[in-house]
Amino acid sequence: MGSMIIETEGLTRSYGDICALKPLNLEVPEGEWLSVMGHSGSGKSTLLNLIGGLDRPTAGTLKVGGEELLGRDEDGLARYRREFVGIIFQQHHLVPYLTAVENVMLAQYFHSVPDEAEARTALERVGLGHRLKNRPSELSGGEQQRVCIARAIINSPRLLLGDEPTGNLDHKSTVMVLELLRELRLEERFTIIMVTHNQEVAAWGDRTIYLDDGLLVREERSSR
Ligand code: ADP
Ligand code: MG
Repeated sequence: MGSMIIETEGLTRSYGDICALKPLNLEVPEGEWLSVMGHSGSGKSTLLNLIGGLDRPTAGTLKVGGEELLGRDEDGLARYRREFVGIIFQQHHLVPYLTAVENVMLAQYFHSVPDEAEARTALERVGLGHRLKNRPSELSGGEQQRVCIARAIINSPRLLLGDEPTGNLDHKSTVMVLELLRELRLEERFTIIMVTHNQEVAAWGDRTIYLDDGLLVREERSSR
C-alpha cells in the first residue's frame, strides 16, 4: 500500500484516573477501510474523536497525511475538520426543520459556499433524489443516515469517520448504507475508519482492530 494517512505514536486520552485510550501506535494506509471493534466503554469513540479533531489527547502524537495535527490551534483544527474529515454518527444530528437538501447545503455553508445543484447531486448519489424536500422526521432511519452520508462527502473529505453509523438501523438498511459507502469509496477514494460493535459490519472493512479497556489487543485482516 501507499503512504499512511494516519500515524499515531503513544496516542493517549485520560480523564482523571480513567485511561480511555492507552498509548496507541496505529498506522492507517491511505484508502484503507479500517473497522474498530470493542465492547461498550472500550475507547472506540475516544479514538475516533481524536482522529476527527473533535478532542485532544493527553499524550502522544497524531500525524494526518504526514502532518502533525496536534500542533494546530483551534482554528487550524476546525479547518482540518471542515476540509479533511467527514463524520457520520449513530444519531443523525440533522436539523429537524430543514429539508434534506437544506441540511446538505448547511454543510457546504460551513465549508465554503452553499450550492443547491451540488447538494441535490449529492443526494441523488445516495439514492435520495426523490426525497430532497422532505424533513428528517419524514424519512426512515436508513434514509436519514444516507442524508448524513451525502452531507459528510459533499466537501470531498479524504477521511470518512463513522461512529456506529448503522447502530440504529435494521439489517436491510445497514446493508444498504454499507453498500453505498463501498460504492462511494471506489469513486472518491477516501479512507474509512468505522467504529462498530457488530462483527458483521466490521467484516466490510479491509482490517479490524480490537480495543479492550482502552488497549489495542488484536488486529485482523478481512479474508474477502
Ligand atoms: P466506546 O465508544 O468504546 O463505548 P468511549 O470511548 O466512549 O467508549 O469511552 C471510553 C472510556 O472513557 C469509558 O470508560 C468512558 O466512561 C470514559 N469517558 C469517555 N468520555 C468521557 C468523558 N468526557 N469524561 C469522563 N470519562 C469519559
Ligand atoms: Mg462509543
